[in-house]
Amino acid sequence: MTAPLLQITDLVKDFPVKSGILQRATGHVRAVAGVSLDVNKGETVGLVGESGCGKSTLGRMLVRLIEPSEGSIRFEDEDIAHLKGPELKAMRLRMQMIFQDPYSSLDPRSPVGNSVAEGLKIHGIGDSDERHERVMEMLDVVGLESYHAHRFPHEFSGGQRQRIGIARALIMRPKFVVADEPVSALDVSVQAQVLNLLKDLQKDLDLTLLFIAHNLAVVEHISDRVAVMYLGRIVEVTDRDSLYANPTHPYTQALLSSIPIPDPTVNRNRIVLQGDVPSPLDPPSGCRFHPRCPIAVEGVCDVEEPELLEVGDGKETHVAACHLRTGAHRHLDPAPR
Ligand code: SF4
Repeated sequence: MTAPLLQITDLVKDFPVKSGILQRATGHVRAVAGVSLDVNKGETVGLVGESGCGKSTLGRMLVRLIEPSEGSIRFEDEDIAHLKGPELKAMRLRMQMIFQDPYSSLDPRSPVGNSVAEGLKIHGIGDSDERHERVMEMLDVVGLESYHAHRFPHEFSGGQRQRIGIARALIMRPKFVVADEPVSALDVSVQAQVLNLLKDLQKDLDLTLLFIAHNLAVVEHISDRVAVMYLGRIVEVTDRDSLYANPTHPYTQALLSSIPIPDPTVNRNRIVLQGDVPSPLDPPSGCRFHPRCPIAVEGVCDVEEPELLEVGDGKETHVAACHLRTGAHRHLDPAPR
């Protein structure tokens, strides 16, 4: 069996909390609290969770836009978690990021052709004619016309700007791409076009993709596997079909139940979670989900932190972190709803 392209082990990110006039660090907030995940070559992994669960922080750490506090990131069997200087710059050729809001990363005074070519220039790839040729080729790949290279960002629609964002990332011919909520800011009609484009490009260019979203409906179409994140931790991972047919963690079940079904004759029992995601500054004891979990068992869920363990549905790759679904307490009766 070939090694995964990307292996994340016990990854942690702490941000300092500062207060007072001197802005002294008085503590830290743990945005990512020990995440382990493998991503295989050529697959798309969907990473889903509510706002503030740490999924974007995780994505940014993977492409080394922010430095991990602890843990390792192995990419093509090399530990890249703490690379610096020229090694980090060289690694960035192989990993790229697509952002939710490409507008903010485009220079409003520069024609988009220049913005798309920027990475090539920074890395000294090709002469000006070769870079021009690659920009034209990439605009065509993402469904834009060559004359668009001379236009400015404000002249494009949201969907077109996201195509420019994709062109900027892919012109570097990366092996691994983190797409951070790339369709969240788009109209529903445009979302499908951008999702289809990403799916086609992933196949044509043999890309490996981590697709971050806050909605399970968005990742269903594009993912081979899905990881669900809650308050800095992964709570369930499995292949796409198992997750949508047999969600195991109560949080995954709640997320799935909130997806509208476009058929008025089908009745889905919606699980409405109480309260907001707790603050990562002071995460709950035991299972981090217990204050909102509809089946939490007192004395277990609020005391012991569950590990990611095999669900035992015949799929080795289906793991969940829930006492009542995996491990020694799995035969406990859920608390009555
Ligand atoms: Fe709910 Fe307990 Fe499972 Fe956590 S461990 S998800 S609180 S049942």
